Amino acid sequence: MRVGIGYDIHALRKGRKLVLGGVKIPHSKGLFGHSDGDALLHAIVDAALGAGGLGDIGDHFSDKEARWRGVSSLLFVRETVALLRKKKLRVSQVDSVLILERPKLAPYKKAMRESIARAFGVDVSRVNVKAKTNEGLGPIGKGQAVAATAVVLLEKTG
Ligand code: MG
Repeated sequence: MRVGIGYDIHALRKGRKLVLGGVKIPHSKGLFGHSDGDALLHAIVDAALGAGGLGDIGDHFSDKEARWRGVSSLLFVRETVALLRKKKLRVSQVDSVLILERPKLAPYKKAMRESIARAFGVDVSRVNVKAKTNEGLGPIGKGQAVAATAVVLLEKTG
């Protein structure tokens, strides 16, 4: 068994779509970024890469590279699965925390878990998404950003 942690934060801006865990969520603002800005998937990918001893998200999906511009971060997950497979590793479990003030994510948690599980090719029971506010404090509390943390456990396939 191998474990990794991940963290990410993206600014909320008008004129962007809000995508978290690969799920489009209706909101007046979305996350700014080179890709779709999906902070939750970025934290999870970083945790998975860390657990696999594969560096970090910037090593593999640099925001300097045009090919990752505007892409769905689900693509990063699929590429990460392929990198892990080469090392005979697969995701055993994902736990994650989203930190944001608005919108309320309770109606979307199930869809996010299903989306993440599908992208990693694991059962939905192995993926957890939690959401909390920042109690009005700092840029997250003022609704200017969304942060996420994640822990990923990997297991050997052979
Ligand atoms: Mg990011």
